[in-house]
Amino acid sequence: MTELTDILLAQIARSGPITVAEYMTQCLLHPEHGYYTTHQPLGQAGDFVTAPEISQMFGEMLGLCLAQAWMDQGSTAQFTLAELGPGRGTLMADILRATKGVAGFHQAAEIVMVEASPSLQKAQKQALEGYDVLWVSNVTELPEHSLFLVANEFFDCLPISQFIRTDHGWQEQMIGASNGALGFILAAQTPTSAFNNAPLGTVLEVCPSAAAITADIARIIGTHGGAALVLDYGDLTPTGDTLQAVQNHKKADPLHDCGASDLTAHVNFHTLSEAAKPFAQVSGLTPQGILLERLGITARAQSLAAQLHGDTLENHIAAHHRLTHPDEMGQLFKAIAITPKGANHPAGFDL
Ligand code: SAH
Repeated sequence: MTELTDILLAQIARSGPITVAEYMTQCLLHPEHGYYTTHQPLGQAGDFVTAPEISQMFGEMLGLCLAQAWMDQGSTAQFTLAELGPGRGTLMADILRATKGVAGFHQAAEIVMVEASPSLQKAQKQALEGYDVLWVSNVTELPEHSLFLVANEFFDCLPISQFIRTDHGWQEQMIGASNGALGFILAAQTPTSAFNNAPLGTVLEVCPSAAAITADIARIIGTHGGAALVLDYGDLTPTGDTLQAVQNHKKADPLHDCGASDLTAHVNFHTLSEAAKPFAQVSGLTPQGILLERLGITARAQSLAAQLHGDTLENHIAAHHRLTHPDEMGQLFKAIAITPKGANHPAGFDL
C-alpha cells in the first residue's frame, strides 16, 4: 500500500468520504506523494507515451500551425507562446525547432510553461536549455497579451466529479473506506431536476476546472488575439464512467496504489467549446489523424524517411502510423482550435 493510500484512508476515517475530484487532485498533485510530483511518467521507461514522445513530427506540425496562425493575425510584435501541462518539454522543444526559420516568430515570443509539478518543471528546463522561459503553475498567471497556446493531454488529467442516476435521482460517486481499503460509495441524492429521464445507471461526469481554464484562455485570446490548439482523447459528449488509471503502459485499478498511476478521464469537448464561445470562436472537432495529415505530416514523414535505414526507418514508419491511423491515435484523439471571433481558423482544423 502506498503512503498516499494511508493518508487518504486516515483522512476519510477522520472526516468522511471524499469526491472523485478531490481524490484525483490528491493522487496527481499531492505535494509529496502525488503522481506528477514524484514520477517521471512519460516515455517507454515511464507509464505512458504521448504523441510528442512518439515522434518529433507531432510538435513540428503544431508549431508550424501556430506560426501560420500568428502570421494570419498580422505577426503581432509581442506574444505569449504557451503550453499547458508540458510533461517532459518535448512538444515545446519541437515547436521551437520547427519555427526557427519563421521570420520574427522567436523574437516576438515570450515562452510560458504552465506546469504544476516542480519535478516536471525541472525536466522541462533541461529540454528547453538555451531558451528564455517563464514557468507558472496556473493559467491565471498567463500575461494579458496575444496568446498562442498548445495543450496536449492536459485537460484529461483535470479532476472530474461523477454523478450516477439511481432510483433516488442523481447521487454523487464518492470514495470511502471499508476493511482498510478504498472503495466507491454513493452520496445522498443531489437535488437537481436536470436529465431526469436518463436511464438508471447513467454516469455523468463534470469537470468544472476544464471549463474555467478554457474560459480564461478564450477571454485572453478574444481580447488580445491568438490561438489555442487543444488536443486530447475524448469526444463532444463522452458518456459513461471514463475514469481510468494507467501504470506501466497497462490499465490499473484507479483506487489501488494512490499516487503510483496516472489518473485521467475523457475530455468533454462540448463543455470546452461552450466555455470558450462567449469570448472567442471555436473550430469544429477535428480527429488528430486528419489534422496531422492536413498539416502535411506525410510529406514530412517522407522527407525524414529518406535519411533513415533499418530499425530507425521501421520505427519512424510505425510512429507516423500510430499518430494518424484511425485504429491507433488518429481517431480517439481529437482537437479544437480557439481563435478570436472573425479570425481565420488555424490550418488543418474543421470549421
Ligand atoms: N503535454 C505533455 C504531458 C501530458 S501529462 C505531453 O503531451 O507529453 C500531463 C501534464 O499536465 C503533466 O506535465 C502534469 O504535471 C501537468 N498537470 C497536471 N495537472 C495540472 C494542473 N492542474 N496545472 C498545471 N499542470 C498540470
